[in-house]
Amino acid sequence: MVLAPHDRLHIKHDRMYQWMHDELMVHFAHNDAGYRDWLVKHPSGYVINTYTNPSPSYLKLHHGSCRSISRLQRGARTFTDGDYSKVCGERAELEAYARQLGGSAEPCPLCL
Ligand SMILES: [Zn+2]
Repeated sequence: MVLAPHDRLHIKHDRMYQWMHDELMVHFAHNDAGYRDWLVKHPSGYVINTYTNPSPSYLKLHHGSCRSISRLQRGARTFTDGDYSKVCGERAELEAYARQLGGSAEPCPLCL
């Protein structure tokens, strides 16, 4: 079967949409499974650790490989269920997000 030009465009558009969709920033609150899954699928992504309701007073930027956000800390049972949540995405969009909140993403001294 030969695709009509219109169909080809359509497929290309869907792929582009998929790509953009994958790059969108995601906020994980009360969703450890989703957060861990995102880390596995985005090994070069970035993560902001913040309160459950993101606040400009605490926005810590980490690389996705940082131990402090990919391994549970001593005494912690959850990444996103307690007082904290995670915002995941590309570094530039996370920094823009922090500015939108009226704060700035503070780079983690361990990984950035
Ligand atoms: Zn870090």
